[in-house]
Amino acid sequence: EKFKQGLTKTRDSFAGRVNDLVARYRKVDEDFFEELEEILIQADVGFGTVIELIDELKTEVKRRNISDTKEVQSVISEKLVEIYQGDDGADSELNIQEDGPTVILFVGVNGVGKTTTIGKMAHKFKSEGKSVILAAGDTFRAGAIEQLEVWGSRVGVEVIKQAEGSDPAAVMFDAIQSAKARKADILICDTAGRLQNKVNLMKELEKVKRVIEREIPGAPHEVLLVLDATTGQNALIQAKTFKEATNVSGIVLTKLDGTAKGGIVLAIRNELSIPVKFVGLGEQMDDLQEFDAEKYVYGLFA
Ligand code: GDP
Repeated sequence: EKFKQGLTKTRDSFAGRVNDLVARYRKVDEDFFEELEEILIQADVGFGTVIELIDELKTEVKRRNISDTKEVQSVISEKLVEIYQGDDGADSELNIQEDGPTVILFVGVNGVGKTTTIGKMAHKFKSEGKSVILAAGDTFRAGAIEQLEVWGSRVGVEVIKQAEGSDPAAVMFDAIQSAKARKADILICDTAGRLQNKVNLMKELEKVKRVIEREIPGAPHEVLLVLDATTGQNALIQAKTFKEATNVSGIVLTKLDGTAKGGIVLAIRNELSIPVKFVGLGEQMDDLQEFDAEKYVYGLFA
């Protein structure tokens, strides 16, 4: 239900336009595919992915000898899910350790919803009965530590911090010691998001990761990149930059409720080969949903 509600904008425009198209054409022809292509591009599915999708649709329509656009519509859903799932077997499940702590590192540019997502995820784990510690690793942006603390007290989890401007790697070190001492299940680490200085940011991320790896072999168990769905193709560019800087294991796509261009999920998955693990569908604590391609696509067209 939540998923459906959060996707109202994308459903009304993207899915709505596909439904109109199907009703208007009834029989499949070249013009039908051209209009469909246009709708997909406007929904931010991404040019490369759209071309691939249309090609596969045409092949499938020919193979199954389909002429009715209503039938094509179900093939569209099938193909969207298939393209999303890819062939690398990546799924949205988080890599959670049996004997904690599981270390989850969050990366992403300022303003994308990183702090909010960390708060939501802490809440999710806590409501599953897990103990959670947050590490205030964004020591650069003014107010970042306080903002994380607000979420910490809202959710009821401890935040490990140092003064603004201190070394994020030192904060991580402290946080790991606390997580070990308290036998925490989950340690969620915030990081700085100033992409203006790419080289510095990369160095900082590397250093933070080195400390985590040294203190807990096999960690971080997840590196989640937070992207803002409303920024469209810009989100893709950010993702490419972060992919070069560090080993991103999954994407959290925020503000999907605020865009009609939900096709960006497909572009990200298909063009970057990184699974979207969670989506943000609002500003509240429980507005974070595990991403499921089938639910997403079939929810859109339902
Ligand atoms: P940060 O700078 O990356 O830490 O971003 P914040 O967590 O401060 O979020 C920036 C703004 O986006 C805040 O006003 C959040 O409430 C809002 N926000 C975050 N996630 C979502 C979401 O999934 N949907 C909506 N509608 N707003 C969100």
